[in-house]
Amino acid sequence: MIGATGTVGQRLVRRLHDHPWFRLTALAASSRSTGKVYGEAAHWLLPTALPGSVSDVVVRDVHEIDDCDIAFSALGSSTAREVEPLLARRGLMVVSNASALRMHPRVPLLIPEVNPDHLEMLDHQDFGSGGIVTNPNCSTVGLALSLKPLADAFGIEAVQVTTLQAISGAGHPGVPSLDILGNTLPLIPGEEEKLESEPQKLLGSISGGIFSPAPFSVSAQANRVPVVDGHLISVSVKLGRGASVEEARSVIEDFRSPVADLHLPSAPRRPVVAADDGSRPQPKLDADREDGMTVTIGRIRSCPVFDLRYVALVHNTERGAAGAAVLNAELLAATDRIS
Ligand code: NAP
Repeated sequence: MIGATGTVGQRLVRRLHDHPWFRLTALAASSRSTGKVYGEAAHWLLPTALPGSVSDVVVRDVHEIDDCDIAFSALGSSTAREVEPLLARRGLMVVSNASALRMHPRVPLLIPEVNPDHLEMLDHQDFGSGGIVTNPNCSTVGLALSLKPLADAFGIEAVQVTTLQAISGAGHPGVPSLDILGNTLPLIPGEEEKLESEPQKLLGSISGGIFSPAPFSVSAQANRVPVVDGHLISVSVKLGRGASVEEARSVIEDFRSPVADLHLPSAPRRPVVAADDGSRPQPKLDADREDGMTVTIGRIRSCPVFDLRYVALVHNTERGAAGAAVLNAELLAATDRIS
């Protein structure tokens, strides 16, 4: 795993140290950490104890990693842009959280419940004997999972989204406490651009090694709020054909993963659930649903400007990052994409 000491890396460690299919073989981070044991290099932030099997592992330089089949990457974007193709050319399958290669024309941006067919793009990649698969931006995961049942049933013409994003989304140490406590920051650099481009790739199609983005536009506004984990996403949608609130709620409730038959260990039973209580979803109450892998959708109602509006909640460091990457790797393994 590369970027193992950070906010996402720690959650990857939690998910992988006793994973039924994968075995953690190496941990890598920056020169700040290399040569130290993991327990010393990582400022462990999770309420569960640091796994004993991991705390004494010596952290390596990312360029030394080659003795693995999969490289889970939780690097920042600029490092990932340089390191991930290098590791793929060494024959590793890179499963990345970073934004660097998400919109690359030959790299799948993957959510197993949304676009498992996009793995076909691996047949067209040119990263030597390895490959690269990415998971979306943490807010985009929640947005795309909430849009998927509506897109399948009614089509989508336009989306307006406003996010209230947790501070863990900025990594560690992240936003200075004096900037965020008792406050809201109306700018998260780069976030709106991701929300305005990634959903169309996810909900688009692939044919003959070419992605065709879904033909709808997104207008996004992203805010940082003093919440630890869980991004709240307020959405208004213009549908391709009219639908009542009851119909929308019903397609959300009926939505099931297209890869449920593969029984991926990290897949939730329900990728999206519709909340019954009109005061939900709330980060504190709903972010951890199904180990942080279920997106909760509430306040589904008609919209006086578009057709529908609702509020979705995604656990940003689990479904939006570490859990997303592990689920992607499980799909790769279950479909024989990892040798
Ligand atoms: P973070 O807490 O800042 O952790 C960054 C990690 O990268 C650390 O392990 C750090 O090691 C390592 N690193 C930094 N510079 C490096 C270098 N030059 N060479 C090798 N390793 C280096 O960040 P994060 O929040 O975990 O995010 C990691 C990635 O996931 C980012 O691309 C982010 O955009 C993406 N992501 C984050 C979230 C979220 O909610 N946090 C959600 C989705 C995607 P040291 O500890 O040694 O410095």
